[in-house]
Amino acid sequence: MTAKEFKRPDGRKKDELRPVSAKVGIIPNADGSAMFSTGDTIAIAAVYGPKEHHPRNQRNPAKGTLRCDYKMGSFSVTDRIRPGPNRRSTEISKITEWALAPVVMLEDYPNKVVDVHIHMTQADAGTRCAGINAAAMALAHAGIPMKDIVSSIAAGKLDKTVVLDLDKYEDSEYDEGEGSTDIPITFTPDGKITHIQIDGKISKSQLKEAIEMARNASKEIYEVQKKALKEVGEGKWVLQ
Ligand code: ADP
Repeated sequence: MTAKEFKRPDGRKKDELRPVSAKVGIIPNADGSAMFSTGDTIAIAAVYGPKEHHPRNQRNPAKGTLRCDYKMGSFSVTDRIRPGPNRRSTEISKITEWALAPVVMLEDYPNKVVDVHIHMTQADAGTRCAGINAAAMALAHAGIPMKDIVSSIAAGKLDKTVVLDLDKYEDSEYDEGEGSTDIPITFTPDGKITHIQIDGKISKSQLKEAIEMARNASKEIYEVQKKALKEVGEGKWVLQ
């Protein structure tokens, strides 16, 4: 199949995102909260803090700690997921912390912790990106000092074609030719990368193409996040 004849299983253009939406202030008891969805993937994030850091031996006297906890609801996919942490959720929690760390400024909060709880209510691939996008908005909503928010999106490759925002079928079941490669990337608004992972194979030149495609899409996502934040006013709870 040549790149010209290439068709995505769901008919999207190669650089087309699934429909994206965002809402800030969805959990009244949290200090900050947000929802971010892309297609059938829905993430919610709740921020609590800065608050006393327990356990004490994990306190950092130099600055506050960002602690992320990513969970997939047992009902988020067709087959029920066994509740509780596993290797994948532990990895994604760490990745989320690292993706957010360059923009979160906790220098004024020594020995404190900011907890970010991320729940996937529906999962159709791209969950780490949706979770990071929701977490960034929830942190801003909580009034945590930040240089700016970050925007995350996966690019990838289906057989020989670089595409944007793989869904679950494309991510796990696409088996034409070279199969699929998934490349989640997180960007600052000025296009710097704070996180990148590569699951699969890709050449150097196609990786560059994928990064550019994701960078452009991250601007679209940033606008959606910003609009949702403006609707409630940063650092304030106004939706009831
Ligand atoms: P991401 O969700 O960030 O793309 P993965 O590539 O690990 O991360 O997962 C791809 C998709 O596979 C998930 O979004 C979800 O739809 C599905 N998935 C992951 N773990 C499970 C699981 N334990 N049971 C069923 N589906 C899962």
